[in-house]
Amino acid sequence: MFGLINIGNTCFANAVLQCLFNIDIFVSQIKKHSNTKISNDLLNIYNNNSYENIIVFFNFLKNKLNLGEQHDSHEFLSLLLNSIHNENKSFKQFSIRQHLIKSNNKNDEKNLFNFLNSLINHYHKEHISFITSLFENYIITINTCKSCNHSSFIYVYDNIVQLYLKPQSVNFTDILNYNFNTTELLSNNKYSCSNCKSFTNCDRNTKFFNIGEVLCFHLCLFTNNKKININLEIPENLNMNNYIFNNSIIKQNNLYSLSGIVFHSGSLNGGHYIAGIKHNNEWYICDDSNVYKINKNNLNFNNAYLLFYIRSK
Ligand SMILES: [Zn+2]
Repeated sequence: MFGLINIGNTCFANAVLQCLFNIDIFVSQIKKHSNTKISNDLLNIYNNNSYENIIVFFNFLKNKLNLGEQHDSHEFLSLLLNSIHNENKSFKQFSIRQHLIKSNNKNDEKNLFNFLNSLINHYHKEHISFITSLFENYIITINTCKSCNHSSFIYVYDNIVQLYLKPQSVNFTDILNYNFNTTELLSNNKYSCSNCKSFTNCDRNTKFFNIGEVLCFHLCLFTNNKKININLEIPENLNMNNYIFNNSIIKQNNLYSLSGIVFHSGSLNGGHYIAGIKHNNEWYICDDSNVYKINKNNLNFNNAYLLFYIRSK
């Protein structure tokens, strides 16, 4: 464990880097791909956390973020993963992040899964990098009209899973159940059925179709121009089986263990990021260059913002 120098409002990045450096499969991949610029810059920091190496790494952000200003850890993580992906992917043009498929039959769910399987196996394979292999998730939402059974499907894939917060939630499972479930949308929620050509009641089912080796959650603390303060119980072990479609391509075990957390303290307009890291079964707080061990019982999950879970072996 080592600290990372803050070169001027860079805690948003340091906290994320600490979480990534604690993921062995990520570190072994940047070692393997050290012939590419960003992986190499990261590896240099990992091997020697010198001021010079940190400056060189941040150069890649120069055109993308105004350094010296405060930034968002989630924004940084997304930018970093996409930048590494772009350096390593086998095909250079790919922009679809969301796709809508329409069907007239509720039973077409199976066809959708077959379609997605072939998409993942053929088309997406050409756009693959070690980043997508480790982090990428596919999430599908199926809306089924209760009047005519017409379904529409939306699938989203990303390296980071967005989680919207349910007010008054006390544990992380409440949040997962809130985001991945079957709900009834009543007509005042304005589901527009293209078959009925009107607003109808519908069933909405959102679950994972494919799930990464590293499961990174972004708790949406910042909405409607304010920060939501919640204090969630966050489990060290997570079973994702309840949140995956039965027909999905996922067959291996879906047990995950918590490896790192980015915390944000402060308000929407300013604050500080630190990381909590689980390393060799001990918890550490990484606050820029300051790293210290903490008793697990004293770990307070208040202000948890990004969570990093790793698939258990
Ligand atoms: Zn309908």
